[in-house]
Amino acid sequence: MISFSPGPSQVYPALPQYFQDAYNHHVLSANHRSKMFMNMYQEVIQLFQEKLHLPADYRLLFTSSATENWEIISQSLTKEGSYHLYSGAFGKKWFDYATNILPHTAGFKFSADEGFQVNDLDVPEALDIIAITQNETANASQVPLHVIEEIRSKFPHKLIAVDTTSSMGGIELDFHQADIWFASVQKCFGLPSGLGILILSPKALKKASEIGEHGRYNSVSFMVENADNYQTHYTPNVLGIYFLMRLLKDVEEIHFLDKRTRQRMQELENIVASKDKYRYLIKMPEFRSRTVLGISGEESLIGDIKKDAEQHGILLGSGYGGYKTTSFRVANFPVISDEQFKKLTDYLKEY
Ligand SMILES: *Cc1c(COP(=O)(O)O)cnc(C)c1O
Repeated sequence: MISFSPGPSQVYPALPQYFQDAYNHHVLSANHRSKMFMNMYQEVIQLFQEKLHLPADYRLLFTSSATENWEIISQSLTKEGSYHLYSGAFGKKWFDYATNILPHTAGFKFSADEGFQVNDLDVPEALDIIAITQNETANASQVPLHVIEEIRSKFPHKLIAVDTTSSMGGIELDFHQADIWFASVQKCFGLPSGLGILILSPKALKKASEIGEHGRYNSVSFMVENADNYQTHYTPNVLGIYFLMRLLKDVEEIHFLDKRTRQRMQELENIVASKDKYRYLIKMPEFRSRTVLGISGEESLIGDIKKDAEQHGILLGSGYGGYKTTSFRVANFPVISDEQFKKLTDYLKEY
């Protein structure tokens, strides 16, 4: 069965080998204060710089999940409150977590179908962070990267935080366009869950030290103090970090992955456009995600196709939340091979 679920996604077939190597080289019991761990942390950073173009002055921290990153942002990086731009369930969850920690948090829910105009955005003076769910996995929409760029130039004094949980590793991000980027590895990275990544710009680091929040196990000040020595603030998911290092060594540089991601999404979109029974979940082409495609249709069609696909060895991702019965989602992550992808497109064309 080939899984096209956007989360957790399928994992790389090289994983058993990585695991065997981790076992053989005593990585599994490595102490997180040991030289071995420190070298590994350093190597992940270097690979992020080489393969994903992480700027040299940005910091990379390990956490446990994207959800944890939401809380860290409110706790350590926000003064008064954040302003959330969201269209779907994950963006809404982030907004809710943030409101729980900082009651002044505000948000603007836009329709993923219509997008929004940066010109119309009005962010209250007191709110110091703009929170954007770049790739909304729940409804298969995206905030195009040039829009994030426009937001940054309109609000140069605010920090921009971007949830790229289901796009980092699949599309090329210009990290300079925001201050806080985060993901977890069980989506676009094609690895098992349990590891989060938090990336901070110099401006975000400066703000964290101005705010000076400390005392929590995941206070940014404490995390950075440990990261200065390539160590972590608690015994981390060493295996997950090892997998990430091995994977980053093996994957192509993001520019190539990005090109392939876009080409394949275009192919999928052409199929949707050519068949009457499929409709895009997100109608505005610009706001359609490049890494997750949402197809909507009659409830009966959606139910039937999911069942039929399974009989052909294809596991389609279910719709999320309110879209559960009227849509399905297809992950277009680098972990999916071109051969698997072709099976899917052949199937969708035929069905
Ligand atoms: C999956 C997902 C999350 C939550 O990730 P966890 O690792 O489960 O915390 C957050 N944001 C987006 C956009 C997601 O797709």
